[in-house]
Amino acid sequence: MTSSFFPPQRTLMGPGPSDVSPRVLGALSRPTIGHLDPLFVQLMDEIKVLLQYAFQTGNALTLPISAPGSAGMEACFVNLVSPGDTVIVCQNGVFGGRMRENVERCGATAVMVEDNWGEPVSVDKVAAAFAEHPQAKTLAFVHAETSTGVRSDAQALCALAREHGALSIVDAVTSLGGIPLKVDEWGADAVYSGTQKCLSCVPGISPITFSPRAVERIQQRQHKVQSWFLDMQLVMGYWGGDSKRAYHHTAPVNDLYALHESLVMLQEEGLENAFARHLRNHQALVAGLEAMGLSMAVAAAHRLPQLNAVNIPAGVDDAAVRSALLSDFDLEIGAGLGALAGKTWRIGLMGYASNERNVLSCLTALEAVLARQGADIRTGAALNAAAAVFNAG
Ligand SMILES: *Cc1c(COP(=O)(O)O)cnc(C)c1O
Repeated sequence: MTSSFFPPQRTLMGPGPSDVSPRVLGALSRPTIGHLDPLFVQLMDEIKVLLQYAFQTGNALTLPISAPGSAGMEACFVNLVSPGDTVIVCQNGVFGGRMRENVERCGATAVMVEDNWGEPVSVDKVAAAFAEHPQAKTLAFVHAETSTGVRSDAQALCALAREHGALSIVDAVTSLGGIPLKVDEWGADAVYSGTQKCLSCVPGISPITFSPRAVERIQQRQHKVQSWFLDMQLVMGYWGGDSKRAYHHTAPVNDLYALHESLVMLQEEGLENAFARHLRNHQALVAGLEAMGLSMAVAAAHRLPQLNAVNIPAGVDDAAVRSALLSDFDLEIGAGLGALAGKTWRIGLMGYASNERNVLSCLTALEAVLARQGADIRTGAALNAAAAVFNAG
């Protein structure tokens, strides 16, 4: 007989999933009700309003896709891109490459604007791409590149798209709830996120929002959306504003309790306070790491507070350090991806996991494991350096 599964209590400080708040886990275990139950419909309406707050938007078409962040990405592309379109796709890490895959599978042409991994998207290069490809109808980029820990200038990129009469598709999977994301003020057109990064929620849901201009393009499509499940014309009938909802699919009822709870928590804390918390914990972590003699992989001006890329010191066995952290400290940090594999660690401070205790325990654990490996680090300084940041703030 197979027995029940009881996972250990880990601390999740990688690129996601991140620690889930106990309040969210509690909400998840409440009784399941029907997805067309009037009380559930009410909950759906509240989720829409809470998501509008999180995204800082008045967009009517704001809702959670019943699948992970990758499905939110696909929903934006399949609804806004038609065969024969030209899309400018920015790539400065893993996720821009997936955007290209999406564009090509829509039968469109991706014009790639590439920047080094570890650097932000170059606004000048995007401007040059628009000049060279005036027929481009869409610009796609990643706001917070989780694979490298870099923030790009979403405001400038969205403005550039508008200037050229194009729509913007913005990957905000790791930014929502962690750093400012002003959908209306910046004029972003299609923005998707995920529940498992800075929202303190379980993986598996993708909040998305479409501007009125994006909705107009969806309504004027000549080609049927290639995905039945992600066709927003159909999804709108289920999540739409009026009380008559057409069955499209069965919403993941309990997951939406969890999302609702996480958004209530975000509202209680306040967006600005959540951003300030992420920033302060990041600053304390960096102070501790640098006091230990480690260096950050991304220039200070472009760092994401919720995803800290650290250079692995010479001679240190990357995999051995991560497995010791997991087995001896129940602490998960992320490995480098692609070009950065073996070169960096990615330490997440996302959502519920972004707290003082995690900063201090991560520094303690990392110092112990590195010292045991004989790494050339300074011991005994990191906690004081981090504490100094906390005491100053
Ligand atoms: C995690 C992530 C995704 C994918 O989200 P999933 O929930 O894993 O499907 C997409 N883009 C970025 C920037 C991410 O960090």
